[in-house]
Amino acid sequence: MAAPTGAALIAKTLQELRVKVVFGLVGIPIVQIAEEAIALGIRFIAFRNEQAASYAATAYGYLTGRPGVCLVVGGPGVLHAMAGIGNASANAFPLLLLAGSSETHLVTKGAFQEMDAISLLTPHVKIAIRPRLDSIPQSITTAYRTSWYGRGGPTFVDLPADVIQGDGEETSTHVVPIAPKAASDPAKIQLISDLIKSAKAPLVIVGKGAAYAQAEAAIRKLMDQTGIPFLPTPMGKGVLPDSHPSNTASARSAALKRADVVLVLGARLNWILHYGEEPKWNPAARIIQVDISAEELGRNNGDPSLGVIGDINVVTAQLLSSLSGWKYNSSSPFIKTLKASEAKNEATASKAAKVDKIPMTYARTFSIIKETLHKLSPPEDGGIVYVSEGANTMDMSRSIFPVHHPRLRLDAGTHATMGVGLGYAIAAHCAYNLPSPEAKSGPSTAHKKIVCLEGDSAFGFSLAEVETMARYGMDILIFVINNSGVYHGDSEDSDAWLEMQKQTIAGSGKGGLRSSSLGWEVGYEKIAEMCGGKGYLVSTPEGLARATEEGFKAGVPVVVNAIIESGKAQKLEFAWQNTGKK
Ligand code: ADP
Repeated sequence: MAAPTGAALIAKTLQELRVKVVFGLVGIPIVQIAEEAIALGIRFIAFRNEQAASYAATAYGYLTGRPGVCLVVGGPGVLHAMAGIGNASANAFPLLLLAGSSETHLVTKGAFQEMDAISLLTPHVKIAIRPRLDSIPQSITTAYRTSWYGRGGPTFVDLPADVIQGDGEETSTHVVPIAPKAASDPAKIQLISDLIKSAKAPLVIVGKGAAYAQAEAAIRKLMDQTGIPFLPTPMGKGVLPDSHPSNTASARSAALKRADVVLVLGARLNWILHYGEEPKWNPAARIIQVDISAEELGRNNGDPSLGVIGDINVVTAQLLSSLSGWKYNSSSPFIKTLKASEAKNEATASKAAKVDKIPMTYARTFSIIKETLHKLSPPEDGGIVYVSEGANTMDMSRSIFPVHHPRLRLDAGTHATMGVGLGYAIAAHCAYNLPSPEAKSGPSTAHKKIVCLEGDSAFGFSLAEVETMARYGMDILIFVINNSGVYHGDSEDSDAWLEMQKQTIAGSGKGGLRSSSLGWEVGYEKIAEMCGGKGYLVSTPEGLARATEEGFKAGVPVVVNAIIESGKAQKLEFAWQNTGKK
């Protein structure tokens, strides 16, 4: 029997690690690896740009709870995929990046796509390895395990052409089981459960670390038993259903401002949580962080003496048993304040959703999409995965679309990365809809509809990936919330926009298109039509409702280009950007 090539050994190692999907973009010399992987039954999802492929692999890691794998060429391929490295690192998602590189004996000679990727990536990954032919299984296994165990993050394996093309020897890989889960010291559990019991205004914050840890069952028991109000972070939404009686998301500001003891389950005290500091938080709050990463404890306003190092599943179960029989007083002044604030904020939101004019507002647009989708797939069923990006689109849609099951909402995340959306949508489709034992679905394993809510600017980052969706028969439904600009758009109508464009082209004065201007009412729907999908251009509530229904039922990718209010007429909304500055 012929000796296996390095490419065959790499593919076999991935198969033995139970990798089901590889995201990437081929070229010389890695095309051989992709072909060997396909021959072994691994799905290779070929993207149009490594950036989107690397983003997809990070989201797949988050959704499945196992490292996402991305395969790219060296040099420029690695540079484009660095976006995914940064994204995985910032979000603590497990990612294994495999990249080709030039032949070892040609290094420094100016070889094809030559670049010292190991030096470039070493500071940004948990481990960067360049294996020899005889250490392929060991190196890839180590990189896979390292990205996965502890706090998730990126790892890198550099694969020189001579390693990929060389003749190796059959070996077998060690199985990498799920990481052991750490428990907390019982004395610490006692300390924090006593503190929680003594609190006048306790609060639980549920982050995307809890979603990634698949800790929904343990957290649900804790919340049902204790009745403590909770706030989900943007991607922590759904770990507990948004409809849970203790969900106080509609009174987020009041909750943070008043809570005196806060239990943080899998979230960092970064910009998303205003650093745990004034003015958003009660300065006297005692903050208990539960995290798998010891370095996280005590960050910003977390109290290291209360911090718990451990797995959320295990620590939550320990807390549940320590708090057994205790329930927070549901008629406390804190709960009354939260209920009053919730009622006020919900009334304001519902009024905004009813403003019926053309061009449509954000709130009205989202309310039509939501109502139509809910008729087709009630949120309790968990049949829809939402992917959302774009400053205003992401911020406003977050509170409008309820999520009742974990890992059904993806957004720009910790790095506020715009351009992740289409890669994430493809990853979600692969995680939920390809037959795979790794898929972590909500209540049923039925096909899930992936729905993207994209600002027109965010969509532009990777719109070529609509073709990737079409090629693989992915029935993803994309809404482009089109106000002809970054943030708010800049022109009230096409005449004003044309005048600005004319000034820009003529180079006259200080007028002209602003830095945040995009093309006026660009026909984004055509990109779907171009590759076998369906496109809808809509500007009225009726048209939007019809396109939403037809788009939901379609078996191909659909782009609904929804023209909304733009420019000066619209109030600037920068809430999402709130950095918590004093
Ligand atoms: P969010 O964006 O929702 O605020 P972050 O990404 O900032 O959440 O924080 C998630 C945190 O969860 C990280 O600090 C990570 O170390 C932690 N984490 C991930 N998995 C686990 C786990 N199994 N047990 C405990 N903590 C975890």
